[in-house]
Amino acid sequence: MSNVKTIECDVACLCGQCFAWPQKVEPSYPQHRITRQGQHVLVCPRCFFFTGPSDNPQATLTWWALSNKPGNAHIAELWLKDYREQQDEARRRKSA
Ligand SMILES: [Zn+2]
Repeated sequence: MSNVKTIECDVACLCGQCFAWPQKVEPSYPQHRITRQGQHVLVCPRCFFFTGPSDNPQATLTWWALSNKPGNAHIAELWLKDYREQQDEARRRKSA
């Protein structure tokens, strides 16, 4: 049982903007997950970009909103960098 409220987030993932999709793609909104340690994470169901886990759902939401701010080239660059790091990390874990 949990009294944790699901985080509602209306900021779409930047993958819709950062990747060259073969056709126009719908905005992808993050899903709220809770880790085994009880921390909050927001994950994009399309590209699996995620926020770092946080004890504070509001902090997780803010993290997501800042990382996925649309229409800003600098943010998009940071997003791609984070995304690649997350992918590398996932590969390392798989091969370990
Ligand atoms: Zn995404």
